[in-house]
Amino acid sequence: MSKKSLIAITGASSGIGEATARAFSAAGHPLLLMARRLDRLEALGLPNAVLKQVDVRDRAAIAIAVGEAEALHGPVDMMFANAGIARLGDIATQPPEDWDEMIDINTKGVMNSVHAVMSGMMERRHGTLMMMSSIAGRKVYPDHTVYCGTKYFVHAVSESFREYLAPYDVRVIVLSPGIIDTEVLDGVRDPQTLANYKANKEAIGGGISADIVAQLILDAYQLPQRAIVQEIVITPTRQR
Ligand code: NDP
Repeated sequence: MSKKSLIAITGASSGIGEATARAFSAAGHPLLLMARRLDRLEALGLPNAVLKQVDVRDRAAIAIAVGEAEALHGPVDMMFANAGIARLGDIATQPPEDWDEMIDINTKGVMNSVHAVMSGMMERRHGTLMMMSSIAGRKVYPDHTVYCGTKYFVHAVSESFREYLAPYDVRVIVLSPGIIDTEVLDGVRDPQTLANYKANKEAIGGGISADIVAQLILDAYQLPQRAIVQEIVITPTRQR
């Protein structure tokens, strides 16, 4: 069997990142897994996985983690810039600190992750950037104001990165999930916002499994490098 390429994932300690780590591990890839909760990365028990306690707001820490993993397993061939938080809330009453945190993690965190691998991919003329946006990066919802802003940002920079990197044969894929069953709602502090979200979720029959998203990411990655799924939009069937 040919040696599989190194896959880097931010926010691999739960939810979609964790499911994607499991899917790529089952496909035989060595992994660089990053998150703040190292114990959760360790609990995954995946083989050939370099585990790093990294906050994506720390640009240097991502670069160091990438360097250490690449020394062991060769170049990162896909960066899944997945880490993110959803401090949903009423924009008039929400503490502005919540805006800061979402903007720093969901936008600058994605930029920092891409920055750590982009020039290497351009030199090799090979690689995939998987950028985590959301259905909330395509349409707006009440109580999602700043969250939507961060995800529209990811959509915009992904389109620009794709324009820029296409001549280098580097693929840029933007991922836009709808309601996926993960821990993302743990970050919602406002009870009314949480109640509204849960009511909407129940009305469409609930969310879908992160494993479905992970399978799509693997399928898109496994296409020949000359072919790209530019955007993956995956939602529960009843979600509009
Ligand atoms: P989870 O809360 O289960 O996972 C979020 C992951 O991001 C965790 O591994 C967390 O790890 C990590 N993370 C958060 N902040 C940081 C940070 N500062 N530095 C490093 N890692 C961080 O939720 P999801 O799996 O749902 O979320 C993953 C992405 O998917 C997010 O960007 C989210 O916005 C997006 N998304 C989710 C949807 C859903 O319905 N679930 C829908 C659309 C998009 P740790 O806390 O250990 O650092």
